[in-house]
Amino acid sequence: MAAATPFAPPPKRPADPLGLQLKELGLYVMAERYQELAEEALKAKSPYAHYLASLVSAQLAARMDRSFRERLARARFPVLKTLEEYDFSFQPGVDERQVRTLAELHFLERAENVLFIGPPGVGKTHLATALGVKACAARRRVAFYPIGDLLDQLALAQAAGLLPAKLVELSRLNLLILDELGYLALDATRANLLFQVVSRLYERSSIILTTNRRFEAWGEILAGDAVIAGAILDRLLHHRHLFATNGPSYRTPDLTGVQEPAGSGRELNR
Ligand code: ADP
Ligand code: MG
Repeated sequence: MAAATPFAPPPKRPADPLGLQLKELGLYVMAERYQELAEEALKAKSPYAHYLASLVSAQLAARMDRSFRERLARARFPVLKTLEEYDFSFQPGVDERQVRTLAELHFLERAENVLFIGPPGVGKTHLATALGVKACAARRRVAFYPIGDLLDQLALAQAAGLLPAKLVELSRLNLLILDELGYLALDATRANLLFQVVSRLYERSSIILTTNRRFEAWGEILAGDAVIAGAILDRLLHHRHLFATNGPSYRTPDLTGVQEPAGSGRELNR
């Protein structure tokens, strides 16, 4: 080899045709790692097929990871929460076994719905999010909406003549999470839009809905229309898993038992 002089060009990186071909195929992790894993395989004297399997696994793991992150981003959870973070001992009214069974996600295959009913702070949004995160990990299409936001978007779409396209988009989801029904009363347009969403997804996709209002009060929330409330409930509840808890607020456990102002969602206690 010629001695390096101050004027010699920098040494060229050795050509890597296999690396280039793998990149051409979009297999970037394999391109980056095939040499290192080959050396390991040589040292361990492992069979060729094992080497190939470890290489493909590395590529697949990266793809799964990326797909999970993309699905989480598309679902638009306000805050990421996991089942592991949920303290079931704090909320004995929530059946841990039932939640863990749901986390196996068979309810999605059967297009069953999940309803979390209870006062503020019992973890309804947390559990709905945690199930949604599991669904993203299982490569399902998930969207999370504060229910008022979705209905506002649909009302705008309707005014622009774009409602059918929006409904098609929603019906492609495996899981639609509708958070916080009941904090704001809905007008007739929005009550009707909610009916359309629920009808469209009925027996095709799952809905997880959280609410602070018991079913008897839904007519009141839905533009005072008991008929539409009944029609929505009928579809939501046909195949459902129900969690109703009256437990303490995790946000303010020190205030449990203290009188809350009317309309704060404590009506389950009444
Ligand atoms: P809700 O939707 O019922 O009003 P959230 O799910 O928003 O309540 O819960 C309020 C806060 O308390 C969140 O930060 C949530 O993660 C937390 N939290 C609620 N319940 C529990 C619990 N049992 N274990 C751990 N964190 C909880
Ligand atoms: Mg909530």
